[in-house]
Amino acid sequence: MRIVEPTPESTVQPQKKSKRKLPVLFFVLLTFIAGASFYLFALKEGEEVDSESLQQNTTAEAEVSEDVEQLERTGELRMFTDNEFNVFYNNLLQPDLERVENPPTITGNDEADTRIRSIAEARGYRLRSSPSATATLVTVDGYQLHAVVAQPWEELQQAAAEEGLSMSIVSGYRSVENQRNLFTSRLSAAGASVSAVAQGTADDIVNEVLIQSSIPGYSKHHTAYTIDLKCAGYIFEDFKNSPCYTWMSANNYEQPKKYGFIPSYPPEADAQGPDPEAWEYVYVGKDLLTQ
Ligand SMILES: [Zn+2]
Repeated sequence: MRIVEPTPESTVQPQKKSKRKLPVLFFVLLTFIAGASFYLFALKEGEEVDSESLQQNTTAEAEVSEDVEQLERTGELRMFTDNEFNVFYNNLLQPDLERVENPPTITGNDEADTRIRSIAEARGYRLRSSPSATATLVTVDGYQLHAVVAQPWEELQQAAAEEGLSMSIVSGYRSVENQRNLFTSRLSAAGASVSAVAQGTADDIVNEVLIQSSIPGYSKHHTAYTIDLKCAGYIFEDFKNSPCYTWMSANNYEQPKKYGFIPSYPPEADAQGPDPEAWEYVYVGKDLLTQ
């Protein structure tokens, strides 16, 4: 068995060293503890500051989102693509309207009517509702409208006048009977007899008339929420090229939307019945057009 004796150097020297360094070590330790305590204290303070500023940030964010909500509540207008305008309108349940379940007669000849209807529906025409017994219609500039449309229309007209634009209504509520007379007289003026329509030899003429004229039961004018407009100095059909239309259509129809109106047959929409009609607007109410 071999016993290793520590050399005097290895035993004595460290002892000497540690004895000599003890106060220094103690001082270093004290310094370290003091430093660490200060660091921890500072860290805690910092944390407190951080959580305070975090709280402030959260409060600020809450205030901002409240502001946004207020902004939205106070009338930020919804934006629509042309197709979205139509989807929105077609899904709308407007007050005081009665759904038409069966398509009304057009010419009185069943074969001709079925043929006309199928051409119309292929173009995108669809059955529209008519005022129910609860609806109150009023006369504005000689045209009948649902009572709720009168004031918003007058405000829109006034807003246009302030821009130097003179717009007037040239069509409002139209009964199924009115629309029947309108369509059949245009069909006959275009040269299509009822028998030719029934035989299917006048489809092109029927389609031509449908470019601008709805069949009875399928017109938005039946609702009494729809208006046709004319801009002073321009013929009715030329509304699209008038400064009134430039003003109406600017910024996603901002002006009409402000008063509760949307374009009825916007320019870029898919099959919607007639060709686009820059002059026709439907009242849907401002509430649904604001976020
Ligand atoms: Zn119209």
